[in-house]
Amino acid sequence: MITEKNFSINSKYDAVLIGAGIMSATLALLISELFPDINILVIEKLSTSGQESSGAFNNAGTGHAANCELNYTPTDENNKINIEKALSINNSFEESLNLWAYLYERDQINIKNFLTFLPHISFVNNSEDVAFLKKRFELMKKCREFQDMEFTTSYDEISNWSPLIMKDRDNKQKIAATRLKRGTDINFEALTREYFKYLSRKANFEISYNTNLLNLKRIKNHEWDLYVSKDGNKKILKANFVFIGAGGKTINLLQKSNIPESKNYGGFPVSGKWLISENQELNLNHHAKVYSKAPIGSPPMSVPHLDSRWIDGKKYLLFGPFAGFTTKFLKKGSYFDLFDSFKKDNLLPIFDVGFKNFELIKYLALQLLKIIYQELRIFKKSCHLLVKRIGI
Ligand SMILES: Cc1cc2nc3c(=O)[nH]c(=O)nc-3n(C[C@H](O)[C@H](O)[C@H](O)COP(=O)(O)OP(=O)(O)OC[C@H]3O[C@@H](n4cnc5c(N)ncnc54)[C@H](O)[C@@H]3O)c2cc1C
Repeated sequence: MITEKNFSINSKYDAVLIGAGIMSATLALLISELFPDINILVIEKLSTSGQESSGAFNNAGTGHAANCELNYTPTDENNKINIEKALSINNSFEESLNLWAYLYERDQINIKNFLTFLPHISFVNNSEDVAFLKKRFELMKKCREFQDMEFTTSYDEISNWSPLIMKDRDNKQKIAATRLKRGTDINFEALTREYFKYLSRKANFEISYNTNLLNLKRIKNHEWDLYVSKDGNKKILKANFVFIGAGGKTINLLQKSNIPESKNYGGFPVSGKWLISENQELNLNHHAKVYSKAPIGSPPMSVPHLDSRWIDGKKYLLFGPFAGFTTKFLKKGSYFDLFDSFKKDNLLPIFDVGFKNFELIKYLALQLLKIIYQELRIFKKSCHLLVKRIGI
């Protein structure tokens, strides 16, 4: 039974957005621009915004515009390359650029705090993929969106575009690359901060940190009760509109809402990790996002890329992502998140996804084994050290 205690937020809002990641930040901004009279509350269980998937080091920071991601142009069973998805993603990203330009011109956000222009490169290194890249380039180049795309098979030119990719490479390998100079690196954590900084200047916008959504119930159409807690105090909020932007935890909260749309969905616990270089000499030698092709049968998140990143004024180099298995849905989540999301209605769909993506399951199992092996080695080393220290 929740007893109402007052903490410094009101009891009723037009819109309550759960989670202070890039999704809630973007939606709050759009609602506020389109309906300036609406009062909005964002609640976040952590003490600041953008610390989960939107955190600067928790994603690749690619402004996805289909300039270099080869999985946006799949080949069909007749060996035809389909570029529809690439065009649609490119157009969506143009809309983001337009929004940022609009806000920047009005002094509402500072683009330099989160966006850096840098080339996007696709790189392949076998005959089959070279043929694919060339065909793809010829198709895309015809479209206005990709008319500035360059293609080369020259070792010298690719070395010039991306010296680290070519260092010590066997010069008998068949290689090719495409480049679009107008790509971007986006710091989503900084962008989230920019949006909230701007929104916080408005009288009818509030953000409440260290505030956890425990449960939610639809009373009737456009009327919700939200059970929240802050510093041990609990409170019931009323909202006409609720958006669950809780990242990985969204599935658990959606299930608690009990709305029909929450049925049959499951969460797949895949994490992504990076090798991060802080070696400035190395980092300054690379100036691009270079995406390659995952080996046949590998899951899409195993597409390797080497990314220049700018985070809080410093240049980094990220290589990855290395996908892994975890039962937590958030970095600062609980190991019970996955088990908590198993419901009668979603067990079948979850197993169906598992069977249809057997390669992904195999890949995750291997990653898990690697982690266990690594942990065991660390444990063995610690035991040796301990034995040495106490002199047994
Ligand atoms: C390895 C990897 C690489 C990626 N690379 C890219 C890329 O290059 N480009 C790109 O565009 N996207 C990329 N993404 C995807 C992108 O990072 C996510 O889509 C995006 O950050 C999701 O934002 P979000 O706001 O939905 O979630 P999050 O950023 O996870 O935010 C959710 C927030 O909700 C809060 N929360 C959770 N539960 C509660 C609760 N009960 N009460 C209150 N608050 C709660 C959390 O604390 C968190 O702050 C990548 C993702 C991964 C994993």
